[in-house]
Amino acid sequence: MIEITHYLCIGCPLGCRLEVEEDEMGAVVEVRGHSCRKGKDFAEREHHDPRRMVTTTVAVHNGVWARLPVHTTAEVPKDMVREIVRYLRSLEAAAPVERGQLMVADVLGTGADVVASRGLDAE
Ligand code: SF4
Repeated sequence: MIEITHYLCIGCPLGCRLEVEEDEMGAVVEVRGHSCRKGKDFAEREHHDPRRMVTTTVAVHNGVWARLPVHTTAEVPKDMVREIVRYLRSLEAAAPVERGQLMVADVLGTGADVVASRGLDAE
């Protein structure tokens, strides 16, 4: 049986509505609704291996601010995002922190590192 799945492209603000048609074997037969190659690639990947960047904050000890914005250096499997955010919530960095400083290497075995999105001085 042919199956059609719908996605919203997040490649740019246009937000094209994508359709992925799959055959009985689970192979993508056709992608529709995209306005550019980027949207087609996004739909195919979103269908088989959805990934996202993670941006969140971690607690900071002795800093001028209580929390430090951080992000992953690469996209991680979408179904691991909550687990990664939960893990980062349990950490506490020590000020001062440099922008781009490594906070966690290979977070939860995803191959992506977590780095500071900005610098933070000690109080
Ligand atoms: S398909 Fe292309 S034009 Fe449409 S939202 Fe995605 S990136 Fe933007």
